[in-house]
Amino acid sequence: MAVKKIQKKLFGTNGVRGIAGKEITPELTLSIGKALGTMRPGKIAVGRDTRTTGFVLANALKAGLLATGCEVIDCGVLPTPALQYIVKEHYDGGAMITASHNPPEYNGVKIIEPDGTEMGDEETIRLEELLADRSSEVKPWDQVGTEIAAPHLIDEYVQAIVGQFEGKPGHGMTVVVDPGSGPACQTTPAILQALGCRVLTINGIMDGTFPGRLPEPSPEGLEGLAAMVTANNAAFGVAHDGDADRAVFIDDKGNYIEENHEFALITRHICITKKGVVVTPVSTSQIVELVAEAAGCTVHYTPVGSIYVARTMRELLNSGKKVIFGGEGNGGLIFPDHQFCRDGGMTAAAMVSLLAATRQNLSALIEQLPTRYMIKEKLATPHGSQLIKRLEKHYVGESTDHTDGLKIKRSTSWALIRASGTEPLVRIMVDSDGQESGQAMFNEIQKSALDILAALT
Ligand code: MG
Repeated sequence: MAVKKIQKKLFGTNGVRGIAGKEITPELTLSIGKALGTMRPGKIAVGRDTRTTGFVLANALKAGLLATGCEVIDCGVLPTPALQYIVKEHYDGGAMITASHNPPEYNGVKIIEPDGTEMGDEETIRLEELLADRSSEVKPWDQVGTEIAAPHLIDEYVQAIVGQFEGKPGHGMTVVVDPGSGPACQTTPAILQALGCRVLTINGIMDGTFPGRLPEPSPEGLEGLAAMVTANNAAFGVAHDGDADRAVFIDDKGNYIEENHEFALITRHICITKKGVVVTPVSTSQIVELVAEAAGCTVHYTPVGSIYVARTMRELLNSGKKVIFGGEGNGGLIFPDHQFCRDGGMTAAAMVSLLAATRQNLSALIEQLPTRYMIKEKLATPHGSQLIKRLEKHYVGESTDHTDGLKIKRSTSWALIRASGTEPLVRIMVDSDGQESGQAMFNEIQKSALDILAALT
């Protein structure tokens, strides 16, 4: 069972993205709307994050859908996973105007399939072909589409998450939420309140200029959140990226939790009560596999990108496997009982449930996890794919994996070397049980790579 990566032209791993007005123009989203309307005629839900360019781009996209005869359901501002949930429950497809974690000047489009997952590679290539040949048919006056506003549907998403949990697991728990002025201002505080938490917020007013922090929830950007957590004796702080499909955490002592540790902690919690497969990309720290296997579960690895995780989860389920959890080592986690996409609001709710069940502080739980160290570096080179081929030959005697790039697996550490699809660089990651052993492996791989590149040029 292997979901393969195919190179697309315009769309990347998470939709099309770029600087609004320059790369992502109203003309482009109009064309995407027409192409999508031609490919998926029917009822299409449209949403956007809080970016200032969201109105412009969403209106152009809706015009394209309407011109090709679609019925547009405008869900307004909402998290990407909320739109995915709404599409899964009610509609024939969706389009989300968002640039996720990118800076405020960026924007983009993610296309949602009827099952709520992001559009896969083969379908996206078909959409790109429709865009390129401009063959989308604009309907005559009596066949154009209609539009309705449905801002209330966001409540269904909130209720769906709350319904995953019994009672009020957050009773007596203070939690600080940093939605980063993004769409989760409308959802995560409401979800946690419904679970019984006392909720405080920072950057809790929707604002596309992002006055408090950038949409990427970095440790530096979350210093304000960390200070609020400790000042209020909160159980934890949770922050989202610009479209709230990811959630990252601050523990009760004000420390930023590395996202692989977050993933491992929730994996361990799920694996205690359910037995089955956890799905994640080859780039995720082995810490997840260690806790899953210790609890009697297994890990299935995919290419890098949440869409490959989501599709593999579905394929494994369809083949009769029990799939209990999935996600990436960046705070993007997938709870298959809820839906097959990363969901930041669901992740925040899962943390409340985990803390209620364990009755321990988050900082103590993190300390109990196995120790792993990760090094992530970039190597600038236009010869990425050639370099990886030569490295494959160089390490031919070792245990390797070719799911995405080259993974070299040793007893207590691994290295992953991948060429970027969009930039002239190669990414090198090393994950190890010791800082020194990890650094030694990284130095060795880097030296091999530099020697090969010197011989190439
Ligand atoms: Mg995102």
